Parts: sequence; structure tokens; C-alpha cells
Amino acid sequence: MTTRKMNEIARVIEESGSILLVTHTFPDGDALGSQLGLGHILQDMGKKVVLYSEGQISYLYNFLPRCTELFDIPPGDSEIDCAIALDCGDRFRLGREVDNLLKIKPFMVIDHHAGHKDFGDLRWVEAGRSSTGEMVYELARKLGVEISYEAAYCLYTAIVADTGSFKYASTTAETFRIAGELVNIGVKPEEVAGKLFDNYTESRLQLLQAVLSTLELYSIGRLAIISATKKMFEITGAELADTENFINYPRSLASVQAVALIKETEDGISVSMRSKGDCDVAEVARKFNGGGHRNAAGCKFKNGETLKEVRDRIFNELLPLVEGY
Ligand code: AMP
Ligand code: MN
Ligand code: MN
Repeated sequence: MTTRKMNEIARVIEESGSILLVTHTFPDGDALGSQLGLGHILQDMGKKVVLYSEGQISYLYNFLPRCTELFDIPPGDSEIDCAIALDCGDRFRLGREVDNLLKIKPFMVIDHHAGHKDFGDLRWVEAGRSSTGEMVYELARKLGVEISYEAAYCLYTAIVADTGSFKYASTTAETFRIAGELVNIGVKPEEVAGKLFDNYTESRLQLLQAVLSTLELYSIGRLAIISATKKMFEITGAELADTENFINYPRSLASVQAVALIKETEDGISVSMRSKGDCDVAEVARKFNGGGHRNAAGCKFKNGETLKEVRDRIFNELLPLVEGY
């Protein structure tokens, strides 16, 4: 079934001259890695590729080959034969241009989110996949193209980012097989790990210090909450993007089953959640119109709630959840 969907997408790609690739807003490593990786693959096939992403891309991903070619102009100005959304589980995460984007026909979707909400014309969704990068690799094999070093670098980054370096439950033997093949192409795991994880500026480390000082623990250490306030950003000079991976520090506590990171942003409060095993934080995210995976999910509050109010609402949902583990 899923292979049939992949084959159908491959057929549309083969018949198309110019293809638009889009991913979710505030793209993470998997989003950008799979978008850029597929971009390289399609260009190598002689296709015209338009990479679309709303807003600024986090500076943390500038190291991805040709990342700076991403641009922020509404599509529709150029001739496009089809579009592919990568790593996007919900049409609204495509951003403010969602309606214009969906006018591109056929609009195809490659995604691995549990609780994926259907959109577009042709969907290949596999919740059992570790990352969209892994799926793009399979697609490239189906297309029969030689995967370049640049493409491999992007796809490997996508996989490492979404599996937390092959640590999360979503990591399968298939994930390792694909990562192994990307390493065979020439990707250096040490280099990618360095770019993804050992990339701190001084202000980012100071932000981490401030955020970790907010650590609250409940239910004999099963629940952890940390917060990043506007004031902390002002004082340290760090930016929102710098909070990436901070949530993994409380997650490293042996006792922890669920963690929430509450962030004060320009347009409201943003919540990231992580959990271990069967503890399902996507369920909590969905209650607040967010989404994600069982062990990694998020949601946004844009209605003027304070950080404290959001923290309390999240706390009230997470506490009974972790009590069961
Ligand atoms: P983050 O904590 O921002 O890294 O997000 C973790 C995962 O949760 C992402 O990979 C998304 O699948 C999902 N997610 C985060 N924010 C949202 C949101 N506002 N709406 C839907 N899904 C989200
Ligand atoms: Mn993503
Ligand atoms: Mn992903």
C-alpha cells in the first residue's frame, strides 16, 4: 500500500519538469534535511526545483549544503508542475501560503507523523518511519538516481536529527541500514554530529544555563518542566532557535518520563514536549491543537495566555499522564 503510494509519487516526479518542495514552518533538521536532500536528488535528475520555506531558517542549519538557496517568496510566480510537502503532518503547518500551495496540482505529501491529518492529492505517510529523510532515501532508490554526497549529507542529517542520534524508539534496523548506505556514499557521522550538536555560541550556553535553572520536577522525577522567558533572550542575546535540543537535558534524567519546555516567543507561547516509551505526549499536544509523535510533540498558544498560564495547563495534562509510568 505504502510502496504503491511511493511508486505513484515517483511516477509523477518522472513526468514533471519543475517541482516545488515545501516543509513545515520553523523547520527542524528532518524538515530541512529531507527538503534539501530531495532538492539535490531532483536537480541531479535534471528537474527544475523550487524550494519554499516560510520565514527565516534557523542559523543552526546553515551548514546544510545549499541551505541558503531556500527563499521566502509566495509560490505561484513560476511555472510549477507539481509540489511535494515533506515532514508536514498538518496542512496548517505549511504556513500562511497554505491555500496557494495547495492549488498546485498534484500536491503530494511525504510524511511520518502519527496522527497525520490528510491533505493534498497524493499521500505517502508511514508513521513507523524514523524520519522523512529515511523515506526520501527510499524514493531516491525507486527513482534509480545516484545519490550525491550533498544529497546523502542532507538525508543523513535529517535521520540523525529526528532520531536524536539513533536513540529514539522510532529507530529501526531499516534506519541503520539507510544511514549505513549514506555513510558509504561518503557522509562522515562525526562531522554531522559536530554540526548538529557541538555548535554552541557563548550566548546560547548562557541561555541554557538560565533555562536549566528553571527546572521543576514532579511525581518523583517523572515529570520535568523548564521555561525560556523573553527576559532570558534579552539578557543573553540568544534567539529562539538556540533553544533547540535544550529539552533533551531534563530528558536525560533516569527518572523522567515526560518533559515540557515552555518558550515565550514573539507571537505567543510555544511548547515542546518529549517523553519515553509508551508515555504519549502527542495526545497532550493534540488537546491544544498541536501534534507530533508519541515521544516528541508540540503546540502553540497565541491567545494572549501568559507563560505561567500555559505552564499550568500543560502541567495539569502531563501530571496524570506520567503517574501511570
Ligand atoms: P519540537 O518540540 O518543536 O521539536 O516539535 C516536536 C514535534 O512535534 C515536531 O516534529 C512536530 O511533529 C510536532 N509539533 C511541534 N509543534 C507543533 C505544532 N504547533 N503543531 C503540530 N505539531 C507540532
Ligand atoms: Mn519536523
Ligand atoms: Mn520528521
